[in-house]
Amino acid sequence: MTNIPEIYGCMVFNDAVMRQRLPKDVYKSLTETIKTGKMIDVSIANVVANAMKDWATEKGATHYTHWFQPLTSVTAEKHDSFISPIGGDKVVMEFSGKELIKGESDASSFPSGGLRETCNARGYTAWDPSSYAFIKDGTLYIPTVFCSYTGDALDTKTPLLRSMDAISEQALRILALFGDTTATRVNTSVGAEQEYFLINKEYYDKRDDLLYTGRTLFGAPAPKGQQLEDHYYGHLKTKIGAYMEDLDRELWKLGINSKTKHNEVAPSQHELAPIFANTNVAVDQNLIIMETMKTVAERHGLVALLHEKPYAGINGSGKHNNWSIGTDTGKNLLSAGKNPASNTQFLLFLAAVIAAVDDYQDLLRLSAATPGNDHRLGANEAPPAIVSMFLGDELEELIDAIVGDTDYLSRGKKTMDLGVPSVPTFRYDSTDRNRTSPFAFTGNKFEFRMVGSSQNIAMSNIVINTAVAKVCKDFADKLEGAADLETEARALIKETFKAHHRIIFNGNGYSSAWPEEAERRGLLNMRTSVDSFSCLTAEKNVKLFTEFGVMSEVELRAREEIYFENYSKVIDIEAKTMVDIANKKIIPAVEEYVGELAEIAKNKMKIFETNNGAVLEKTIIRKLSDLNARAYDLAEKLKTAAMSADRERTHKKHYAESAMAYKENVRPIMTELRQVVDEMEGIVPSKTWPLPSYGEMTMKQ
Ligand code: ADP
Ligand code: MG
Repeated sequence: MTNIPEIYGCMVFNDAVMRQRLPKDVYKSLTETIKTGKMIDVSIANVVANAMKDWATEKGATHYTHWFQPLTSVTAEKHDSFISPIGGDKVVMEFSGKELIKGESDASSFPSGGLRETCNARGYTAWDPSSYAFIKDGTLYIPTVFCSYTGDALDTKTPLLRSMDAISEQALRILALFGDTTATRVNTSVGAEQEYFLINKEYYDKRDDLLYTGRTLFGAPAPKGQQLEDHYYGHLKTKIGAYMEDLDRELWKLGINSKTKHNEVAPSQHELAPIFANTNVAVDQNLIIMETMKTVAERHGLVALLHEKPYAGINGSGKHNNWSIGTDTGKNLLSAGKNPASNTQFLLFLAAVIAAVDDYQDLLRLSAATPGNDHRLGANEAPPAIVSMFLGDELEELIDAIVGDTDYLSRGKKTMDLGVPSVPTFRYDSTDRNRTSPFAFTGNKFEFRMVGSSQNIAMSNIVINTAVAKVCKDFADKLEGAADLETEARALIKETFKAHHRIIFNGNGYSSAWPEEAERRGLLNMRTSVDSFSCLTAEKNVKLFTEFGVMSEVELRAREEIYFENYSKVIDIEAKTMVDIANKKIIPAVEEYVGELAEIAKNKMKIFETNNGAVLEKTIIRKLSDLNARAYDLAEKLKTAAMSADRERTHKKHYAESAMAYKENVRPIMTELRQVVDEMEGIVPSKTWPLPSYGEMTMKQ
């Protein structure tokens, strides 16, 4: 049995290692940078780089990499060795401050939305000292930002760091009003719960759709799915238990506080939640978690599926982005305290979040927009595509009292007594759970639940941080000159609650009445991801991001183009994969079976000496022949539709039109083709069917 505290963080160049290995003044200067987000002093970089290299090589590392987050939702890395020749066929291991701080790469193949023409392909990576370097597979990983030759951000981390600075600056202004002079930085924290599926590698390898697209494009439902709800929190199978144990261990070594694990609602679906961290660190850690889930799975003969909807008909996977805001002195600004009604500072921050979510619903929706997530949002397993907030009865009553100028009677904390003497009594949480709400208050944090399981959570947090920064700025501008802060703050809180009341919804977000009600309230309902992409460059949103220097208009336009382009590419790959599987595997397999049946029919007719001797075979042959012919036609139609949508993008550079064509003209044919193929799966014997079934994939791990 390994000693967990001993291995915890052993692969991370963390505070303890820095303290031990860096000269005092260097350590102090570096921690100052980490804490305040200030620029690193170049003179100390050489010392830090050398200490990092010594530490890493002692642990067997031979390479380093600037690890970054291009606009693809996965991470990128290019490995360089520490080796440096010194003549006489000898080498030394070297790593300079310059190499630590800045990397240059020919990065022309990363999405740039036209920001970086291929003739000007230079891209730079720059060290983010606020996220610790770590060792994985013999390489020292240095978290970095990624930008173009002209300094435009080509990644998700740069705007995230900018948004963290923005909210810190504005929130500090509010704190100063309330007399807090000790806090020097306001941090946003994030804990991202990650859902995923595990599948036996043997089955995975036989499914080209999983291999190319991450989801099954065909597959008839198994007799048993999630109806009995017996998988949620169920006992872990031995193989899965061993996987999770191994995964935890790898994450602990990387200093990631993997805390809870359990089975999810769908068969073979699971969840992992780490303890929260500062937002940029939490984003990095979530990406490492996703990668580690995949690599550890291989060791166990499994494959981890992070797609939002690997299987139709059973729940997909999301990511719960728990978000809060606190000071560097340890105060959680969303903590209501004993008496929320008299806690003006808390109410002001609460009002700021409510106003931010209402004003920037479109951006929040956009931040969860991927083609994969289109299968989930609004499908009775995830919040709808309409953004609303859940606050719980207690806060909602308080807000109603403030808006209506009535007395608020605190419910106080109720005690739960189960009437079983041996079970201790405990307190109710002040908010119940509402799994259907996209943005729910859960004590001292908000949980944004729309994000898809495969996504980088950076964009959601960029939006939340910047939107809240904006409202805090408006509040601070109004209140800084206040003669009587308490009275004016109270009036502002009331006004804000009143103006944004429509965004609060405590009811059932899955009900069919909600979209109608939401429409009456004037809330947005962008049903698919394609509907949301262009909001990125809406005037009010450009204003928001440029005002706080989070993203320039050029950067926003580039990102919008990438969203559309990515959508087109994803659907194009799915369509092509479907055509390929249909033509090369399914149609021939069905023909083969029909041939077998025909042979049997022939024999039967001979034995019975009558043409009626093979009624069953004839019925099946007729049915399958019809279906198979339809499958072939649909595959042809799909090919043509995809080609035409693709031409919009590749020849005409009409990105939005291309995405729309995939949505309107390609996806419906995909659905039709799937229906036909799934129907055939129900008729053809399993030994002939060329793909593993839903039952095998989800039940047999
Ligand atoms: P649940 O399933 O009830 O939502 P979990 O324990 O699975 O709860 O996940 C809760 C997540 O919220 C964890 O990642 C936790 O670290 C995170 N969290 C708790 N407090 C904060 C906070 N102040 N800021 C951000 N995240 C937080
Ligand atoms: Mg949760």
